[in-house]
Amino acid sequence: MDDARLMRYARHILLDELGIEGQERLLAARVLIVGAGGLGSPVALYLAAAGVGRIVLADDDVVELSNLQRQILHTMSGLGRPKAESGRDALAALNPDVRVDARVERLDDARLVELAGQVDLVLDCSDNFATRHAINRACIATARPLVSGAAIRFAGQVSVYDLRDPASPCYHCLFPESDPVSEARCATTGVLGPLLGMVGSVQATEAIKLIAGVGTPLVGRLLSVDALQMQWHTVRFRRDPDCPACARRPPAGAGYSGG
Ligand SMILES: [Zn+2]
Repeated sequence: MDDARLMRYARHILLDELGIEGQERLLAARVLIVGAGGLGSPVALYLAAAGVGRIVLADDDVVELSNLQRQILHTMSGLGRPKAESGRDALAALNPDVRVDARVERLDDARLVELAGQVDLVLDCSDNFATRHAINRACIATARPLVSGAAIRFAGQVSVYDLRDPASPCYHCLFPESDPVSEARCATTGVLGPLLGMVGSVQATEAIKLIAGVGTPLVGRLLSVDALQMQWHTVRFRRDPDCPACARRPPAGAGYSGG
């Protein structure tokens, strides 16, 4: 690692749990971030600042004025531009160590599997259940860890589905597709801007932990926050042995594959 990198990442390298080895893992890591909006913004900024070597940033939307209240990756100069490209330029300005591939497209199942297969970890920063389930399927198919976040109004949720680990639930185990859902989206319902920073920061933290192999991941635990009361809760949950999405994976108890 050269002097500029030692300087740039000094405050991470100083952490015993990370050190130079952990930083080198971050520099060698590849991640897919689906969504360059409210959650994708803090996630991408923190992972780029941390030196995650390759970031695939996917979003088919363009930057609008009403995004800037919370989507801190974008600025006035990005209005009308694809979010993936506006985001790529912001990350390049922050850290030239990071290679960002901007994908201006809505990813279908096949494309999600293809892109997930090219990375070490996937971050779901999307805003709808159909995409969340499609990302979950792709992560099951490719055995990639999935760091999933969601936020609406004053409420946020985060969890990690480590699909390399037979004991880990998948997103569908917790949120079955058959459940009746009232889909509330930030675009129509409203969301507190900094709440996305809270949830996105937890997602970035979990991604860094998984990449560096430190700490205990948020697997089998759903972390929820109520920003209005400022209360955090953790609920534990297990893999559903009858889950239609992940039942064909090795059964829980088969032992950690190590991925
Ligand atoms: Zn499942």
